[in-house]
Amino acid sequence: MYINGKWVDALSKNTRDIINPYNQEIVAKAAEGDERDAKEAIQASRTAFDQGDWANLPANERGEIVYQIAHLIRENNEELARLETLDSGKTIEESRADMDDIANVFLYFAGLADKEGGEIISSPMPDSESKVVREPVGVCGQITPWNYPLLQAAWKIAPALAAGNTIVVKPSEITPLTTVKVFELMEQAGVPSGVANLVLGPGHNTGAELANNENVDLISFTGGIETGKKIMQAASVNVKNIALELGGKNPNLVFADADFETAVDQALNAVFFHAGQVCSAGARLLVEESIHDQFVEELATRASRITLGSGFDNETQSGPLISEEHRAKVEHYVEIGKEEGAHLILGGKRPDDPELQNGFFYLPTIFTECSSDMKIVQEEVFGPVLTIEKFTSKEEAVSLANDTIYGLSGAVWSTDLEKAEFVASKLRLGTVWINDFHPYFAQAPWGGYKQSGIGRELGRPGFEEYTETKHIFRNKNPEPIHWFK
Ligand code: NAD
Repeated sequence: MYINGKWVDALSKNTRDIINPYNQEIVAKAAEGDERDAKEAIQASRTAFDQGDWANLPANERGEIVYQIAHLIRENNEELARLETLDSGKTIEESRADMDDIANVFLYFAGLADKEGGEIISSPMPDSESKVVREPVGVCGQITPWNYPLLQAAWKIAPALAAGNTIVVKPSEITPLTTVKVFELMEQAGVPSGVANLVLGPGHNTGAELANNENVDLISFTGGIETGKKIMQAASVNVKNIALELGGKNPNLVFADADFETAVDQALNAVFFHAGQVCSAGARLLVEESIHDQFVEELATRASRITLGSGFDNETQSGPLISEEHRAKVEHYVEIGKEEGAHLILGGKRPDDPELQNGFFYLPTIFTECSSDMKIVQEEVFGPVLTIEKFTSKEEAVSLANDTIYGLSGAVWSTDLEKAEFVASKLRLGTVWINDFHPYFAQAPWGGYKQSGIGRELGRPGFEEYTETKHIFRNKNPEPIHWFK
C-alpha cells in the first residue's frame, strides 16, 4: 500500500494471494488491509489537502504532473498490459488497448487542469462584483471493480488530481496489480506525499471505511448495484458528494434495414468481448421480427467459433471469467433462464477442452424466446450470456429497451438515420451508439440514467465531479442597511 508517500504493509501484516484466472496460479501477494489502514490513508490525505500545497498549486503545474503520469504510462504500456492480463485473464491485445486509453485519460484531464478559470457573472446588485469559481472538493475516496481494473481507476484518479483534490484509492482486492504499478509511476511523476494514497483490502472493511469516514468529502464508486446502495447509505453519514457507476443490462436494437453483416459481427462483440464482463455489454439483443431467425442463426454459428484460452496466446479471442465465485453466479443465472422458459440454443456450460479445466471458463451462451418479464433479461449476469427478444415496430423496440431499472448504454442499428435518431432520442440511457457498439473516449461523458448510477465520469462533467462551485460576491460600496435600528 502507498500511504503518505511510503510503501507499507497492512498493519495486520495480512496478505492475499493474487490469482491468474486462466490457470489459478498465484501471480503475486498483495497487502490485505482493513479499516485501520484506510483510516491512516484518509488522515494522510486530509492533512495533505488541508495543509499541503496541492490544491493551491497553479493549475498548470498540477496539469504538468498529470501529463507526466500519462507519459510514464505510455512508456510502461507493455509491463502494465502484462500485469492486467495476468490478473484479469483478458487478452493482451485488450490490455494494451486499455493502457492506450488510460494514457489518453490522463492526457485529457492534464489538459483540462488549467482550463477552468472561473467566470465573472453579471450581478443584479448595484456596485458589486460577482464571480463563480470552481475549487477542489477535498479528500476523495475512490473504489474500483475488477473488470477494467486500471481503466476505472484512471477515470477517477486523473480528474481528481487535475482538479486539486487528494485521494485514497481502493482497487478491487482481486485485481490490484496495475493500480499498484501506477502509484509507482505517480510517485516518479512527482505527485507529493499524502496527495495520492493507495489502500488494498476487501470492500466490507477497507472500502466501507472510505464510504463511512467523516474526513472523506467525496466518494466515487464503480461496481455492482447492491454495493452502490450500501455506499450511498454510508455516504449519508456526513452528506458526502457521491458518484456512482453501477451496472447495466444494455439493449442492442437491430432493425431489419441494418447492414446485416456489420450488425451480426458487432452484436457478437457487444456481448462476448471480455467474456461479457463489461458494464456496457450488449447482453440484451432486440431484433426486428422479419430478420430474427436468420440473424440468430448467423450469430449462434459465429459465437460457437469463439476461441477461449490464455490471454497471452495470440489465437485467443476471449479469456476466462474472473473467479470461481463469479462463474458460479453466471451458472446460476443460466439455470434461472432455463427455468423461466428461455430457449437455450448455445453454450450453457463450461468448455470440455482439457486445456481450460484449471481456468474459470464458460462457453458463449445464447437464449432465444426471451421476454422482458424474465430475470435473465432484467438482471446483470456479467458473463458471456446473451438474451434475444423480437420486436415489430420502433415504438415497441423503444418500450422494450426502456423496460429495465438500468440505463447505462445501448445501441441502435439501422440505415434509416431518421428512425435511428428517433430511437436514440427515446432511449433512457447515458450513452447511445448509432451503428456501432462500445466506443467511449476521454472527451465524452460516461455514466448511467436510472439505477445505473449518479453523476458522470470522463469529459468535462467528469472533471466537474471533482470540483465544488463557489460564488464570491463583493460589495464595492458597503454601507449600513439599518434593517435593525
Ligand atoms: P463490487 O460491487 O462487488 O465491488 C466493487 C468494489 O467495491 C471493489 O473494490 C470492492 O472491494 C468494493 N466493495 C465491496 N463491498 C463494499 C462495501 N460494502 N463498501 C465499500 N466498498 C465495497 O463490483 P465488482 O464485482 O468488482 O464489479 C462488477 C460490477 O461493476 C458490475 O456490476 C459492473 O456493471 C460494474 N461496473 C460498472 C461500470 C460503469 O462504468 N458503470 C464500469 C465497470 C464495472
